Amino acid sequence: MSRKVRAEVDLAAIRYNYDLARRQAPAAQAAAIVKANGYGHGAVQVASALEPDVPAFGVACIEEALELRDAGIEKPIMLLEGCFDADELEQVDSLNFWPAVHSEHQLQALESATFKNRFPVFLKIDSGMHRLGFQPAEVASVVARLQALSCVAEVILMTHFARSDEPQEGATRHQLEAFASITGAEGLAACLSNSAAVMAWPDAHRNWLRPGMMLYGATPFLEPNAVADQLQPAMTLTTEVIALRDVEPGEAVGYGGTFVCERPTRIATIAMGYGDGYPRHAKNGTPVVIHGQRAAVAGRVSMDMMTIDVTDIPGVEIGDRVELFGKQLPVSEVAVWCDTIPYTMVTCLTPRVPRYYSE
Ligand SMILES: *Cc1c(COP(=O)(O)O)cnc(C)c1O
Repeated sequence: MSRKVRAEVDLAAIRYNYDLARRQAPAAQAAAIVKANGYGHGAVQVASALEPDVPAFGVACIEEALELRDAGIEKPIMLLEGCFDADELEQVDSLNFWPAVHSEHQLQALESATFKNRFPVFLKIDSGMHRLGFQPAEVASVVARLQALSCVAEVILMTHFARSDEPQEGATRHQLEAFASITGAEGLAACLSNSAAVMAWPDAHRNWLRPGMMLYGATPFLEPNAVADQLQPAMTLTTEVIALRDVEPGEAVGYGGTFVCERPTRIATIAMGYGDGYPRHAKNGTPVVIHGQRAAVAGRVSMDMMTIDVTDIPGVEIGDRVELFGKQLPVSEVAVWCDTIPYTMVTCLTPRVPRYYSE
C-alpha cells in the first residue's frame, strides 16, 4: 500500500488548449510558456507534447531552458526576463535561446559579448505595469543599438499587461495606447499577449502570443469568457479517503477547531495537505468531488491530511477516490475558496505529488 495522491496530466488537453489559443489569432505565432515546471504540470512532458506544433517555448530563466535542452527539446526557447548574468550569453548563443532585454545592464552585456550565431531579441517595454522594461521614450535609441549588433537577427517589441484579466478595465487600453505611441520602432514585430489578452484583447494579438495558464486549461478570468469556457482542464488532482468517523453536533474538527459540527456529521479524512501544495487557506466549504458529487472541506487543511463533510453522500468508504480539482471541478473555482488564483494552485504542488501522463 502506498499513499494514493496523484496528479493526472492530460497532454491531449494541453494540445487542444494550445490550438485554441492559436485559433484566436491565426496570423500570429504562439510561444508556449512552460516556466515554473510547466505551471506544475512537468515542463519536459508538456514541451515534448507541444513541440511538433509550436514555433518556440518561453521560460523564466536559463536553468529552465537548460532543463528542456537536456531533455532533447530542440525548438527555440525565449528567456522572458532575459539573462541574469552576462555569462549566460554563451549559452544563449550556442543553444538557441531567445533573450528578452529589459534593462540598460542587459543591453550593455549584449553589446560587450561576441557571438557565433544570430538570434531574435525581445525588447521589453514598460507600457504601464512598472515591473520590467525600457520606457517608451527610450525605445528608438535602444532599437538602434540592438540593430547595430551583428548577433541580433530581429528586434521584437515586447510588453506585458498588468490587468488583461479584467476585460472592463481601462488599464489595458492605456497600456495598448502607450505601446502604440512608441516611435522609432516602425515595422518591428510585437509580442504582447498573455493568456487573458489572447482571449479578451484582440487588439493585442499582433505577431507573437505568449499563452501560459490557458494551455493548462484554467481560466484567468473571474467572469465567464467565451474562449476560456472552452478550455479543457489539463490536471486532475486526486487522492483517497483514509479514515471515516461520525462526529456529534457541537464537536470541532481539526487544528484550531475552526469547523464545529452543527448536525451529526460524517467526516472523511483524505490524504492531501499543504505538504502536497494544497493551500492551507482553503476555507470551510471549499468543494471537492467524491462519487461524482460535491462535498465540502470541513476543518483546517493540515500538512498531510484534510477532512471533508460527506454527511450528504451515502456509501462513502475507505479507499474512495476524491477529486480536489480537475475534470469535474475547475481549479479556478477552488482557487477562489482559497483566496488565490489557479496559477498558484497548480504551480505550488510539491514533488510529493506524483504526476501521471496520458496522451
Ligand atoms: C508568465 C508570463 C506569461 C504567461 O502568462 P499567462 O497569464 O500564464 O498566460 C507571458 N508573458 C510573460 C512575460 C510572463 O512572465
